[in-house]
Amino acid sequence: MKKIAVLTSGGDSPGMNAAIRAVVRKAIYHDIEVYGVYQGYLGLINDNIEKLELGSVGDMIQRGGTFLYSARCPEFKEKEVRAKAIENLEKRGIEGLVVIGGDGSYRGAQRLSEEAKNLKTIGVPGTIDNDINGTDFTIGFDTALNTIIESVDKIRDTASSHERTFIIEVMGRDAGDLALWSGLAAGAETILIPEVKADIEEIAEKIQQGMDRGKKHSIIVCAEGVMTGNQCGEELKKYINIDTRVSCLGHIQRGGTPTGMDRVLASRLGGYAVELLMQGESAKAVGIQQNELTCTHFDGIFQSEHNIDNKMYELAHQLSI
Ligand code: ATP
Repeated sequence: MKKIAVLTSGGDSPGMNAAIRAVVRKAIYHDIEVYGVYQGYLGLINDNIEKLELGSVGDMIQRGGTFLYSARCPEFKEKEVRAKAIENLEKRGIEGLVVIGGDGSYRGAQRLSEEAKNLKTIGVPGTIDNDINGTDFTIGFDTALNTIIESVDKIRDTASSHERTFIIEVMGRDAGDLALWSGLAAGAETILIPEVKADIEEIAEKIQQGMDRGKKHSIIVCAEGVMTGNQCGEELKKYINIDTRVSCLGHIQRGGTPTGMDRVLASRLGGYAVELLMQGESAKAVGIQQNELTCTHFDGIFQSEHNIDNKMYELAHQLSI
């Protein structure tokens, strides 16, 4: 393999730059030319592609976001649109493509590997949601988790000073990992995740019991996929007379300098993606499972829904009595 390309797609996540850097440096180390595709699949069809050098990824490992930019490109689901992308890769002699993104981005990569005559694709899990099969952790999850924990710690100060119940709305439309892990780490009394049906009456009872025992404040971490923080407050008021405050953390969860864990993960996965391309592998996603680098065919990734760790959910419940 002499030439490869790399792109970032879907929602950005902290550590994507570290992953791009690893792809670029690992490839150049092995005398492979690397091209950067700007704006994800949109740049691939618009021919927004440039050769990257060692210096292109200098001073990048610590930066949040993605210097290659990311974009949503719904038209990439159409075969004739993808044909344009394949043409742009083929005219440069690019034989390998590393796609850093979520499972939507993997679907695009899988189609490309099926439709192009001479293109191998490897997916790298980049999303804060930690919702991709075939890996224990995705790039960006640890940073987002720590951002949430820091915010909840600060909110807790006010919650305890003013003896209030705070509802913190965190990201996670379909996946509860961010809410579960941050709720456990920040000592939340209640964690609401999309994977488990919320029983608001029971939650209200629990808050009441806590107040009866002299508990002054309560923290509820609510994943956006369950309901908004405001809706949660309204629902609770149907069962209990409490003063709630809502904090929606929003996009601060997606930004910021990546943690050490995310930088190391991104470097390992990015480097491994290039190794797999060199071995002739294709239509696979890299991951980390029990601290070992692994790869899984895209079909295996799409086979089932991502699940939460039920034991961890149970533990969080037990520790929040
Ligand atoms: P995240 O969920 O973290 O934002 P993602 O990669 O799952 O990341 P999506 O918006 O689902 O984000 O997908 C990113 C891009 O991948 C889409 O804008 C589209 O260009 C491409 N894509 C998604 N699904 C398909 C598909 N079925 N076929 C071809 N391309 C697809």
